Amino acid sequence: MIRFGPSGNSDIFYEQGYKSSAQMPAWLEKMSLNAYEYQCSKGVKISSQLAGQIGEQARLNDIFLSIHAPYYINMASEEKEKRINSIVYMLETLQAAKWMGAKRIVVHTGSCSRTSREHALQTAKQVLKDTINEADAAGFGDIAICPEVLGKLNQLGSLEEVLELCTLDERLIPTIDFGHLHARCMGCLNSTKDFEQILDRIESTLGEYRLKNLHSHFSRIEFTPGGEKKHWTQDDTQFGPEFEYLAEALYNKRVEPVIICESRGKMAEDALKLKNIYNRISGG
Ligand SMILES: [Zn+2]
Repeated sequence: MIRFGPSGNSDIFYEQGYKSSAQMPAWLEKMSLNAYEYQCSKGVKISSQLAGQIGEQARLNDIFLSIHAPYYINMASEEKEKRINSIVYMLETLQAAKWMGAKRIVVHTGSCSRTSREHALQTAKQVLKDTINEADAAGFGDIAICPEVLGKLNQLGSLEEVLELCTLDERLIPTIDFGHLHARCMGCLNSTKDFEQILDRIESTLGEYRLKNLHSHFSRIEFTPGGEKKHWTQDDTQFGPEFEYLAEALYNKRVEPVIICESRGKMAEDALKLKNIYNRISGG
């Protein structure tokens, strides 16, 4: 089943007087959404109690949970201390996911501005390998680590690099951020075929199962020659990519991923817009 939901909490959630993320699952269910990506992007500070409450509410309301790990993870760092810390941050995120009953954590791989891309990739691979071993030992082996395609060219995290990282262990699921891909290639995703080619690429590297169980992010995006500049909303139509093309590609290939909307401030409202586009195309 294809799922739609927001990355974090929309501005209107707070404007309507809600305060706790534990209220999000029921709020999302009322909106006809069924996924929620909890943000630990500035650090894993959530208590086991709040995580447990979010998890319980998510199960009651059939909301699929994922957690975004801290942005400052850098698996490709030249500094040993930063690599070790990156493992710690991933394990902390996995612990929060365990409390919550979340099935996936989304991680940024890091920067490759100070070294060759190939060296950065090999460094990140080793860190990810060590993380998987420690996660298994700690009892987190049932939670999928999902390396994300990143939007800036000097970040390690092109489609090819993320797929290569995911070949390490069959439980690794790529997070395909279609806005980031669009920014990385200076706006190259402009047809259903463009999106189908990406899906084909994933399938040929990681196989059908992981293609069908993709994790993904979507929002309109502004970019510069360096790549990603800013996420925008569905109403900001001067920025691409167009979700219609992706929806058609997903429907044509019968791929039903989790689609997390990252629109600025309006992530839940826009997730619903994406869902409606998909339903129109699929006749659902
Ligand atoms: Zn991200």
